[in-house]
Amino acid sequence: MEKRWLAHYPPEIPHHLDYPNKTLPDYLRETAAEFGGNDAIYFFGKTLTFHEVYEQALTLANYLRKIGLQKGDRVSIMLPNCPQAVVSYYGVLLAGGIVVQTNPLYTEHELEYQLNDSGATVLITLDMLYPKAAKAKAKANVKHLIITSIKDYLPTVKKWLYPLMQWKQGQPAIVKVEERSDQHLFSKIMSRPNITEPNIALDPVEDVALLQYTGGTTGVPKAAMLTHRNLIANTLMCAHWMYRCGKGTESILGILPFFHVYGMTTIMNLAIMQAYKMILLPRFDVETTLKTIEKLRPTLFPGAPTMYIALLNHPNLPRYDLSSIKVCISGSAPLPVEIQEKFEKVTGGKLIEGYGLTEASPVTHSNFVWDGERVKGSIGVPWPDTEAKIVSLETGEEAKVNEIGELVVRGPQVMKGYWNQPHETENVLRGGWLYTGDIGYMDERGYFYIVDRKKDIIIASGYNIYPREVEEVLYEHPKVQEAVVVGVPDEYRGETVKAFVVLKQGEQCTEEELDQFMRSRLAAYKVPRIYEFRKELPKTAVGKILRRALLEEEMKKNNES
Ligand code: AMP
Repeated sequence: MEKRWLAHYPPEIPHHLDYPNKTLPDYLRETAAEFGGNDAIYFFGKTLTFHEVYEQALTLANYLRKIGLQKGDRVSIMLPNCPQAVVSYYGVLLAGGIVVQTNPLYTEHELEYQLNDSGATVLITLDMLYPKAAKAKAKANVKHLIITSIKDYLPTVKKWLYPLMQWKQGQPAIVKVEERSDQHLFSKIMSRPNITEPNIALDPVEDVALLQYTGGTTGVPKAAMLTHRNLIANTLMCAHWMYRCGKGTESILGILPFFHVYGMTTIMNLAIMQAYKMILLPRFDVETTLKTIEKLRPTLFPGAPTMYIALLNHPNLPRYDLSSIKVCISGSAPLPVEIQEKFEKVTGGKLIEGYGLTEASPVTHSNFVWDGERVKGSIGVPWPDTEAKIVSLETGEEAKVNEIGELVVRGPQVMKGYWNQPHETENVLRGGWLYTGDIGYMDERGYFYIVDRKKDIIIASGYNIYPREVEEVLYEHPKVQEAVVVGVPDEYRGETVKAFVVLKQGEQCTEEELDQFMRSRLAAYKVPRIYEFRKELPKTAVGKILRRALLEEEMKKNNES
């Protein structure tokens, strides 16, 4: 395998990095020693220095040890982005535990599944999520609940903040929680600081730091086991990729949730390693984001394409000054070229497309930020120490340049395997390579392109149709804000193409108008046969459009008819 991409690396980015024998909390300790007085976190007016974050993480770690946590025990953290999320993550790791990141949007059933599957014995969550947590605890092996409240850091919290933390309409803002032997109050734990270093021997290469749940390539929920080394390697790669960002000088917008590996690595762990100030927002809300950028002037803003799209389409956009933004990394889904260009014009900063997946901690590829050529529509090139190739879907052999196949990757950020799922692990980790389930190709210069996910391909009348290609064309229509394309059952074609479309605010458009537009740009077999206009599309917590939810709706409709 020829690593053609290395020829394009600017001299500032090394081809290989050194990975010191350290754990994630070692980086927090070092940053607290060197930049202790700098702000680590800003949260609606409240700031915490690196020193404070470290001491609070130690206090939590010692408390966890006191209630019986042993090395390798799992602790579920079900929190939106807030200071407690950072303190808890590092506290669990300092105690020698394994973090299980849990989405606060999970239903009771999903939560129960995750708690049972991971075997978590402690669950840390917000008071407003307490009813759900308490019910799930009763059906799992959770021995202790640690409950925190927004008021723990913001005693005079303003009412308008609650909806931002709530995520779900109708959820009570504050739930009173009693202290019992199995229910602990975060505020009480913090009121008795204990900054002794727990003496736990961790092996960064072998010891798992995180169980990160994902649907993976098959959709069955399972946990990727990511070691300290995996996560540190990916964070170090990120720091080197952004070589013009100074240690201790940047501030980073923390909107991507830390309970997803993308936000965890490219925001939280990066900020801790590089002493960046994190400006935390618990949920993506367009107006709040615009206001925050203008007022607090973050320089870095990792996000998902739907976030940049929503900001660009907001009617009040011209009123805000977004000129502080230096670099945005967009990942988790394809970034439409038009959006990239517009966003760079508005901010004057760089919006770079990257690619990754949970199983790789997550980033494996991205475009260059400054020197080195950027190729629009491409996910860029593999990061240092990361190997990538395309293998033929038919033969499994390495594909030729520009030939479409499955993307496989190898590198120090690739997971150890799936938790308790040897069969699933064997499916995706073969000969040291991670089979991503994404279809793409590599050009003659070593730039990679994602065409689609293996399982999203639509087969209509025997033709392969890649939804992404159709979506890109829909995004070119001036009235379209968001679009997603799925295959629906069809009596004659087997499957046919259906497009879900959200129009820009105030726009009107007919099916015929879109059809004409699409026909002028795509081969007839790729043109959607059905359009459905919606006010909004279902999205994951990182803002990725939930294609699967739409497909399930279609299946249900089909079964009923
Ligand atoms: P997750 O494990 O939830 O982070 O999802 C990973 C998946 O997101 C990948 O396997 C891809 O299908 C998709 N993805 C991530 N980044 C991109 C990108 N830049 N372009 C297209 N798909 C992407």
